[in-house]
Amino acid sequence: MTIGIVGAGQLGRMLALAGYPLGLDFMFLDPAREAPAGRVAPVVHGSFTDPKLLSWLARECEVLTFDWENVSVEALREHAASVHGARICPPIRALAAAQDRVAEKRLFERLAIPTTRWRAVGSRSQLERALRDVGVPGVLKTRRLGYDGKGQVRVRTPEDAHRGWEELGSVPLIYEEWVPFDCEVSIIGARGTRGATAIYPLNGNVHSEGILRLTRAPYGPPRWQRLAAGYLERCLAHFRYVGVLTIEFFVRNGRLIANEMAPRVHNSGHWTIEGCATSQFENHLRAILGLPLGSTRPVGFSAMVNLIGAIPPRAGLLAREGLHLHDYGKQPRPGRKVGHCTFVAPAAARRDRWARGLLAELAPGVRIP
Ligand code: AMP
Repeated sequence: MTIGIVGAGQLGRMLALAGYPLGLDFMFLDPAREAPAGRVAPVVHGSFTDPKLLSWLARECEVLTFDWENVSVEALREHAASVHGARICPPIRALAAAQDRVAEKRLFERLAIPTTRWRAVGSRSQLERALRDVGVPGVLKTRRLGYDGKGQVRVRTPEDAHRGWEELGSVPLIYEEWVPFDCEVSIIGARGTRGATAIYPLNGNVHSEGILRLTRAPYGPPRWQRLAAGYLERCLAHFRYVGVLTIEFFVRNGRLIANEMAPRVHNSGHWTIEGCATSQFENHLRAILGLPLGSTRPVGFSAMVNLIGAIPPRAGLLAREGLHLHDYGKQPRPGRKVGHCTFVAPAAARRDRWARGLLAELAPGVRIP
């Protein structure tokens, strides 16, 4: 049985690695010659919107899924779904909502999930109005194609906003209030074809310059877990979702405020490979194939530290007892996620000490709450 995956990045690579023990095969579509999944599975090289390639992939594979959400929804609707009737998971409607920060905010509001105050900005006069309605500080973001802090400008004064408007170019934007959060968390869960769900323990995330640096899980009091799981269940049910879905939140005075969602396996869930009975990658595959979902029970207290820019000397990393190294096989480049390390401890305090020690060495500027 072959799974077609649009996007051959590290998420796709880890999906394939989770699928081989289940006897699955994989076929990827990606324009990049050096894509990380290409080391472990065949990749068809071409554009994500190429109608011929999409319909070919849909024909060849049992089910089509994604490691990147910014694929063309129009191309999928036209050339994959209608022509060959291939199953596409997660649903295209969820992809469409996650691609546009305004659609995402409207969805959260419709489902009564607290989110930041925001205004859509398509012109200078709308920017003025957004500044009046939402106030400063805030952040201007491109509605589409932003990731890892790209396509964002912090706004401390109205002048920053006007500068941001010019910097980001004349593309549709969103203006949001800046949330002075206590911490950031995310929740990941899977929904199967018959509506069963499996929700993972809450992740506590530390970002720096918009990039995830550290995830710890399980994290936070049971109340946060209940709130986040409830919000995620609402989204899963709304889309009659199949596969893994993630929501990221700011926590402020005990409230969870949704920032964004990702219709896929997520960087903050990489720890589940070693830290849970069933990884997010395996559960995504189980879900889209209509198989029973696996247990999301944690086997301890996990930390995941991203390796950004370049892989540090391996011997130094592997000399740390209990460290699991994942090298995505990418070329080094500043700001690029090239791998991650995981550690599973019997107690939260020991996990936190490990994470602080490793981050102090790799990224001394990052503050851990
Ligand atoms: P995003 O691309 O929206 O996930 O933003 C990346 C990171 O920037 C977030 O995880 C936060 O650390 C920070 N950030 C984005 N939007 C806001 C906001 N409205 N208030 C405070 N921090 C933010």
